[in-house]
Amino acid sequence: MRSRPIGFLLSALAGAALAFGGTATASAHPSATPAPGSASAGDVGTADACYTWSGTLQEGSSGEAVRQLQIRVAGYPGTGNQIAIDGAFGPATKAAVQRFQAAYGLAADGIAGAQTFNKIYQLQDDDCTPVNFTYAELNRCNSDWSGGKVSAGTARANALVTMWKLQAMRHAMGDRPITVNGGFRSVSCNSAVGGAANSRHMYGHAADLGAGSQGFCALAQAARNHGFTEILGPGYPGHNDHTHVAGGSGRFWSAPSCGI
Ligand SMILES: [Zn+2]
Repeated sequence: MRSRPIGFLLSALAGAALAFGGTATASAHPSATPAPGSASAGDVGTADACYTWSGTLQEGSSGEAVRQLQIRVAGYPGTGNQIAIDGAFGPATKAAVQRFQAAYGLAADGIAGAQTFNKIYQLQDDDCTPVNFTYAELNRCNSDWSGGKVSAGTARANALVTMWKLQAMRHAMGDRPITVNGGFRSVSCNSAVGGAANSRHMYGHAADLGAGSQGFCALAQAARNHGFTEILGPGYPGHNDHTHVAGGSGRFWSAPSCGI
């Protein structure tokens, strides 16, 4: 949730610069912005220390603002699907926005405006992670995301998308906490834990989930609806004690003990 509101005048471009900067700080502003959710559809979205949208985005829109939106709705692609994080607002992005809107009781028109953006601002921290997940949870290997199969920046960006998928899944499962026992691994961290040679943990896409209050099978089953292309759980070798979820290309789901 936003904790350092910044001014209405901050451009989307400036917001983009802050989005993944890590050390950038936004100046505090005693703003008179309306409480999230109270704005009418025509209002400018409430500013946020992570990223600020202005206006509306809809099918046909493109650019960084769309890409930022796609990250936030990546967990709403429809069962068995995932949406591209490519900055092009097509039919799949529209459908994801509609599912996100419906999940939060907003008018599901597939047009992202003030109400949709205000909901996103409520759901995210100043570092752009969803409120219920952190970069630290998604990386118990090292602090700088280095040493994987992709650049540190890519690994961290992939983990951010994974967190938004988990946030969608968490909401769909009744907003109960989801336990994340690990995510990104450098090649050496992966070797140390006996990970597969091509493990998606080395790309930042993957998360290993603890049973929590949901249980491994419920997590694996729900993951099918939230953009995870790789789901491994009970009955798959080495996965009786956690549920593994990951993004990336190609689908591989196997949790035989859960009917997957
Ligand atoms: Zn795993």
